[in-house]
Amino acid sequence: MVDQSCLEKLKCVKKFMIKNFADLSDINTLPQKSGIYIFWGEGALPLYIGKSVNIRSRVMSHMRAADEAKMIAQSRRVEYVETAGEMGALLLEAWLIKQQSPLYNIRLRRLRSLCTIKLINTLGALTPKVITRQDLEVGQEEGMYGLFGSTHSALKKLRELASQHNLCMGLLGLEKISKRGCFGVQLRNCQGACVGLEDRVVHDQRLQQALIDLKIHVWPFEGSIHVVEQEGNWVQRHHINNWRYLGTWCSKSNQTSTVDHHQFDLDTYKILVKPIMLGSVNIEPANFNVQAQGEGLIVSE
Ligand SMILES: [Zn+2]
Repeated sequence: MVDQSCLEKLKCVKKFMIKNFADLSDINTLPQKSGIYIFWGEGALPLYIGKSVNIRSRVMSHMRAADEAKMIAQSRRVEYVETAGEMGALLLEAWLIKQQSPLYNIRLRRLRSLCTIKLINTLGALTPKVITRQDLEVGQEEGMYGLFGSTHSALKKLRELASQHNLCMGLLGLEKISKRGCFGVQLRNCQGACVGLEDRVVHDQRLQQALIDLKIHVWPFEGSIHVVEQEGNWVQRHHINNWRYLGTWCSKSNQTSTVDHHQFDLDTYKILVKPIMLGSVNIEPANFNVQAQGEGLIVSE
């Protein structure tokens, strides 16, 4: 179900009609500011939702792109929402695309299943296990590596890493081990942890090292935070908890737009993880209670 109301309830949505795509003087009234924009056609579904630090030039580039001519031909109007910074635009874009499923957005479609690699410690020995969304408390548990759209892609990544780091495919559960060890021992791809030539502890340390770039960071705060963005005297505070986007308070309206789907979302995690872990955004602690509410975006005083 497409919820039109979630857009209508969004404060600061400005509608912009495209009367004539050939006439760029129309487009020149779009702001050269951060925000999201929505291409609408005749139907109830948006055609495309995007974000930019310069709405006008981004919309123009869509119009000039030869491979987007089909979408432009279907477009009847553009709507936009300005944001006080890039983070706000990224969060809003990711959320809106999941709510509205625009026809031409493919990249940020909701993944049907989400998998991660978890290292299971059995009597001191580590074994990777691919676990799926049902058992997934992403960002709340240590020992998780990578987020994948399928078990297949998680196992593929594990194989790649095993081969790059000369790990034992047998001990990783990717191959059977015979009396002579795994197949990799014969090929010298495995350093021999399966037949006692390498200490298991050393092997497992190498396994952890191989996975380190994929490590999913546990939420580093006690509770929720505000990521604060400011442009001139306009302030927006994005409410975040456990890597989930909860809503944005805007100084222009003195209201909070609350988003209602707080399921873990991979795109939102990717938007947030680096700026938050590196401290490159302005963060303040927050006590923000989200009430259970219906579909859509709720605006409260
Ligand atoms: Zn081996």
